[in-house]
Amino acid sequence: MWFTLKRTLKDERYQTLSRRMDRLQQVLAKSAGEDEDDRTREFTEFARATGNGLAEVYRVNGQRAFPSPSAAAAAFKWPDVQRIGSERFQHVTSGGQPYWVLLRPDSLNGESLVLFAAAPESGNLVILDSFLKGLLAAAPILLLVSSAGGYLLSRKALTPVDKITAATRSISIRNLSERIPVTNSRDELQRLAETCNAMLGRLESAVLQIKQFTADASHELRGPLSFTRTVSEVALRNPKLDAQSRAAFEDIVVESAKASELLEGMLTLARADSYSLDAPLEQVDLADVVEEACGMARPLASERSLTLLINTSLASPAIVLGDFSSLRRLLWILLDNALKYTNTPGSVEVSLRVTGAKAVLSVSDNGIGIAEADLPRIFDRFYRADPSRSQVEGSGLGLAIAKWIAELHHAELTVASAEHMGATFRVAFQLDDSPSDGQRDRASVRDGLVRAKP
Ligand code: ADP
Repeated sequence: MWFTLKRTLKDERYQTLSRRMDRLQQVLAKSAGEDEDDRTREFTEFARATGNGLAEVYRVNGQRAFPSPSAAAAAFKWPDVQRIGSERFQHVTSGGQPYWVLLRPDSLNGESLVLFAAAPESGNLVILDSFLKGLLAAAPILLLVSSAGGYLLSRKALTPVDKITAATRSISIRNLSERIPVTNSRDELQRLAETCNAMLGRLESAVLQIKQFTADASHELRGPLSFTRTVSEVALRNPKLDAQSRAAFEDIVVESAKASELLEGMLTLARADSYSLDAPLEQVDLADVVEEACGMARPLASERSLTLLINTSLASPAIVLGDFSSLRRLLWILLDNALKYTNTPGSVEVSLRVTGAKAVLSVSDNGIGIAEADLPRIFDRFYRADPSRSQVEGSGLGLAIAKWIAELHHAELTVASAEHMGATFRVAFQLDDSPSDGQRDRASVRDGLVRAKP
């Protein structure tokens, strides 16, 4: 903009000087027939009337054709006069000031002349200077305004991308049927959302097939396995069985029991994936759950010479909404682990506390504990922490099932442990404060839990 203005101002100066030169030529041409004095007077009048007297007429030998029309013209540093073929427009400095000078060849009564006219450039420089200052002052403001505008525009343009990102992040294997909201904008974002949704659709059907396969395979294997076990148990009842065969059948019974347990866990989890986490069903007193699960655990504890401590002294009842047998199973998994991973002589403590609106069920042991590196993974399916530390049998599915049951009850299952320092598993439930549980419609969740039970 500054350079364009500079060029425009220069052009404008040229036009002005060129018009003045045209008129000077007309004045000289008109005065061709007049005598010298009249011609000089007319030139001087013209030069003084236009352009502050900054005009001269030189002969090609370098002498003035007329006396200088003004003191300014006399003192002016005019360029050297040469025989010039064509007009010239040039920049000169005179008296420390910048000027534009136009030189134009002409002739009068057969004599070659060079006409000069000058105009100061200082006015242009003032304009250019203030324009530059204005530009420099406005630039930061313009920059700020355009940055803010750009930021707001890009925010507006990227909001749908944020929405797609948030929606994509919230989708996991548990809610694969959800889809990203599609706007009707007919642009790249709409295509992106539709492409993501199509991909989710393909993933959902692939995952469903895998789940179905796991569930079907677990289910189909149950029959032959229980058949093998039953046949072995029947064979073991034969008193004539030789010692070697007896040992073999006993091994078959033990191993098929383990395989059944594993299949049962896989079947539970395969089914678990397809159930939603809705509100649980009926009012359950957690003290009853503790009593039943501990009743099952007691013989195991005494078999392993471990002390089982139960601490359920409660100021108010720990009533939660849930499914009794699922909750018993959850506590049983934690108890079974505590008893499995605690060496003799050790102790396992089950405690139930009510704090505020929560009921906290915890199982602590002083067993082998869990290394820090394993802690984040023990709730994963089939994950078993460093099996070389213990020769305990297991499938690695127990805690995954426990976690699922806790989630179904909107409870939080956490663990605190360190290697060789024992472990404490806590399940924090929301207490149920409703008067009765008969009014609720919980059919879908009940279905989920009942169908998921082995
Ligand atoms: P598993 O059938 O192996 O017991 P789980 O899913 O119940 O499978 O537990 C996963 C792993 O977590 C176990 O293999 C064990 O390493 C660790 N673990 C669970 N409970 C305890 C505990 N009370 N003390 C020490 N380690 C435990």
